[in-house]
Amino acid sequence: MKTSRRVPTARRALHILVSAGPTREYLDPVRFISNPSTGRMGYAVAEAALQAGHRVTLVSGPVALTPPAGARVVHVERVREMQAAIHAAFPTCDALIMTAAVGDYQAARPRTSKLHKTGRVLTLRLVRTPDILASLPRRRRQIVIGFAAETDAMHAAAARKLAAKQLDLIVANDVSAPDAGFGHPALRAALLYRDGRVRELGRCSKQALARLLVRETERLCAARATASSGAHHAAQKS
Ligand code: C5P
Repeated sequence: MKTSRRVPTARRALHILVSAGPTREYLDPVRFISNPSTGRMGYAVAEAALQAGHRVTLVSGPVALTPPAGARVVHVERVREMQAAIHAAFPTCDALIMTAAVGDYQAARPRTSKLHKTGRVLTLRLVRTPDILASLPRRRRQIVIGFAAETDAMHAAAARKLAAKQLDLIVANDVSAPDAGFGHPALRAALLYRDGRVRELGRCSKQALARLLVRETERLCAARATASSGAHHAAQKS
């Protein structure tokens, strides 16, 4: 990948918070529930944001990747740790790009010592994890972008999440495609915007999508800054 950096003017440099990779919820000290996310999408976004001259905080679940030089990296495992790291960095960021595949369930009572095999059947009781995006404070200034990994009715499910999580943009990602998604260098995706616009991307590389998301973040941040300074001037005149 090209490493030369597009240096923005001071006015345009943003603080971009990126989450990446899977989470782990432990059943006991030696076993956990997780998912196949490799973190490639989030690491590509962090790299693209740094190349565009922005400041990056990368909150990463456990992955086998080297973080891009220049990013501030916070390593986490559990959803609650990811939530705490994102809440800590969110107030100073201009945009959050939430690529992490956050686990939806955790053990109701994780064991503090190893669970030994007994009968033929083991029933686990799971409870929901917190929804990190939904738990963020109301945001006037920040741009928030989510990802929806779907296997069916992709657009409808992504549109529901866009509204429920009050996002500016969501990437609907078809993880049922055999040539894209978890573990692949490419994905099949569409961008859904808050104003109802849909942009079909087809199959694209994670690097190309990362660069596109950084440009969209710059555009959405600039539009929000213009709208809020317009509102400020109107309030001063009245
Ligand atoms: O898992 P789901 O499809 O709802 O994920 C949609 C978006 O919400 C993703 O950007 C994901 O990182 C985020 N999410 C979250 N907290 C969760 C589950 C998902 O912030 N507990």
